[in-house]
This record gives sequence, structure tokens and C-alpha cells, in this order.
Amino acid sequence: MTNEQRTPPSKIEVEASIYDHRTFREDLFWQQIPAWENISEEQFGDHTWQSKNSIKTPKDLVKVLGDRLDPDFLEDMTQGLEITPMNVRMTPYVFALIDWDNPLDDPLRKQFLPVASQFLPDHPFKAEDSLGEDTDSPVNMLTHRYPDKVLFLPLTTCPVYCSYCTRSRVIGGSTSSMKKSSYGAKSGQWDEVFDYIRQNPEVEDVVISGGDSFNLRPEQITQIGETLLAIPHIRRFRYATKGIAILPMKILTDDKWYNALLDVVKKGREMGKQVFIHTHFSSPREITIWNKRAMDKLFQDGIIVRNQAVLQQGVNLSKEEMICLTRKLSYMNVQPYYVYQHDMVPGVEHFRTTIKEHMQLSKEVRGVTAGFNTPMFTCDLPGGGGKRPINSYEYYDQVHGISAWTAPLVKPGELFFYFDPIHKLAPAVQELWATNEGRSSMLREVIKQVDAVGTEYDKGKLEQKVNDLLESCQISNTNKF
Ligand code: SF4
Repeated sequence: MTNEQRTPPSKIEVEASIYDHRTFREDLFWQQIPAWENISEEQFGDHTWQSKNSIKTPKDLVKVLGDRLDPDFLEDMTQGLEITPMNVRMTPYVFALIDWDNPLDDPLRKQFLPVASQFLPDHPFKAEDSLGEDTDSPVNMLTHRYPDKVLFLPLTTCPVYCSYCTRSRVIGGSTSSMKKSSYGAKSGQWDEVFDYIRQNPEVEDVVISGGDSFNLRPEQITQIGETLLAIPHIRRFRYATKGIAILPMKILTDDKWYNALLDVVKKGREMGKQVFIHTHFSSPREITIWNKRAMDKLFQDGIIVRNQAVLQQGVNLSKEEMICLTRKLSYMNVQPYYVYQHDMVPGVEHFRTTIKEHMQLSKEVRGVTAGFNTPMFTCDLPGGGGKRPINSYEYYDQVHGISAWTAPLVKPGELFFYFDPIHKLAPAVQELWATNEGRSSMLREVIKQVDAVGTEYDKGKLEQKVNDLLESCQISNTNKF
């Protein structure tokens, strides 16, 4: 009997693209950047070389790209820096993955290098602290929203700065459009946070974010890890870092940092406690053999990594991109944990999608792989309601782009709203959004519909929220067309 006779053909018809995620770019792609054409693989793979050669200013672009840089793009970027709330900082790794023959359309360029021509006016109900993290903060650098979990922000710096950061109010330095009180990692200032966690026995879970844990020194990784492990009621925590996506060389070559992390993970395991990494890939275009090598090392050492992506127009709002991202992450042992609806912070309107687009994508991705590797498509509710499944709203007015939500356990009695980007609505509706009268009437109509479906909430609290929203919105936005 031949093999052909013994093996029945697959019952499922598959397209050739089903294997795309198994290919990892291995070429010397950075050598296409004029200034780096002689940089060896060894140099490129050194995390200190990456950090030293980060791109931060228009001058840096001119220096590394030379004649490849389109003067119109440079002008667009220079003007974009007057509008963006975020600093620019990119590792050579990410910078070299951009298609410099067409940077305007490139999904990586869009995430890290703002240009003036992309910006749209902010939504009138945007907020610098859209998720209400400061409101739910009992002590400096800590947010306590869910009963058993806290968010600890020990620093506000990152190895790269994302143009769309939800914490643009504090992350990185001030820009022309946003003044910030940023802070570096100062271990002497964390005692109040540790004391709060010690004194609140319901807390079992800590997210160490910021900022980015890649910017913590090895002794700070140890200090935070060992302090948390020593608190009896802490059962698990995660270091959050975008580093595996944008600076995988640190996992491969910064032995002191890596060993500090590994020691905490091992100590946690001996004590029966979980220590994870949460990372942040948004596009399959970001993933090369360098990320795979970093993930192989982490996997061999038993360190579990989960991913949190943000859904963004021009980056990953397509079935093909999201399916490929999901498969590629799964293939290299990163669990695709969340895909978030974009937060309503300043300077991100060009990135935001509607709830309808998000729900459609979630339907298209479901079934592509096992459930445990299928991301949860989620809206983190403006105003601090927490994370909700994307289709779990109480009422959604798609015409006016308003969805109403509740969060019964996290904020009982409160009604929350998410607002679709105005430029995606019909012209007549856009006109309604241009005045406070129009906004008020649309909101009140949605509330009537929420009442009609029988949703229970505190009417007094809601009236206050609606008044606050209408008072806070400004017709003249920080961003201009
Ligand atoms: S890495 Fe995270 S915290 Fe830092 S800029 Fe990006 S989104 Fe913000």
C-alpha cells in the first residue's frame, strides 16, 4: 500500500495563505537604510546598539535615510510633531521594517511616526484620562478598579513611543500639544504602592505597566518581583512590555535584565505563584525571526507571554491582517489575549474604528484557531467601566455612533458610553455632532432606548455624567485637519 492510499485527503479545503504565518522574515532588512548598510547582524542584534541608535527627531531621519527620505514626508512629520501628544522614539529594528518607498501607508510608520496630514479633529467627548485611571487611583502610581486586581505604573518611559498611547497624558516627555508630569523609575517612591497592596487582602493580581518594564533596571525587576511575591495574598502578576515586539534583542542579549526576570518567574513557580509577561504586537508586519528567537528563549525557560493588540484603521482592521496576526502569535507561543477597541484619547481619531467594524472583525476571526488562542475583542469603557466583550453593549445606535454599556460588578448602577469616530458617520449626523444641542439630543434619545430595553441604572448618576460630558466637550479641538 502506498502512502497516498493510506492517507485520506484533508476534509477541509485550505487556501495557500493558511501557511503565511509560518514564514518569518530572516533577511538583513536594516541594510536597506543607507546609514545602516554596513551594520552586521551581530551589531544589529545588540540591544545597546539598538537603544543608542533610536530615532527621535526629524534630524535623525535625515541622518539615517539620506536621499531615501522624501522632503514632503519630512515636512509632514515636522508639522505632525506640533500636533501629536506623544514623543517620537523608535528602535532601529522597527524603523527599518517600515517601507520607506511608501511610508505614508505603512502600518508601522502609522503607529510610531505621526504626520500632520493624518490627523482628524478629536471627538468632542475625548478625554486625556479616558479610562478614568486617575479617578480610581487610591495612591500615587496605582489604579484599583477590579476587586482582585491593581495596576501599578512604576515609570512613564518606554523604549518606543506609540502615537496612540492611552496614557499619552503621562507617557514620555511633553510635546507642543500636551504638557505632562512624566516620571522615571524611582524605587524609593514605590513604598506607598506596596503598602496599599499589603493592606488590601482582596488583591491577588498585579499588572506592572507604565511605561514599559523593559525600562526597569534588573535590580528594579527583582525589587518589584520579590516584594510582590512576599505578600501572601498576591497569587499572580505580569510585567507589561512592548519590548518583545520592538526590541526583541534585549531578551536575547541583555543577560542581566533577562536573568532578573527569570529568577522572579522561577521563585514565583516555587511558591506556587504565576509571573507572566504581557506584550503588545498589533500587526503581523512587526514580526520577524528576531521576535521568534526571543519567544523561543522565553518559551524554553517556561515564561508565558500574552498579547494585547489595539484595533486600528490602517494597521490591522482587516480580516487578513487580524487572522495572520492571531496565527503568527500562536505559532510562536504568544497567546493572543485581547484586541481592544481604541480608547478615546486626544490625537487618535484617524486610528479609531466603529463598534460595528470591531464586531464584524471579531465574527470573521472566530474559528480560525482554538478558542484559547482567539483574542477577546473588547471595549475598555470610557469613564472606568472596565473591559467588556465588544458585543455586550446594552444598546447601540449605529446611525449616530453611540453605544451604551453597563459594568454591573465593577461600577454597579452606572451607564457608560462609547462614541464611534464622527468622520465615519453620515454627513447629516456629522452636522448634529457639531453642536452641543445636537449631541445632547442624540444622547438623550439613546438613553430613552436604553430605558426601553429595560436596562437598570442610577438615573441621578447618569444625569450628572451627561451634564459633565456636555460641559467638558470643546468644539475647538487641539488637532486640526
Ligand atoms: S509601549 Fe505602551 S505605554 Fe509605552 S507608549 Fe506604547 S502603548 Fe504607551
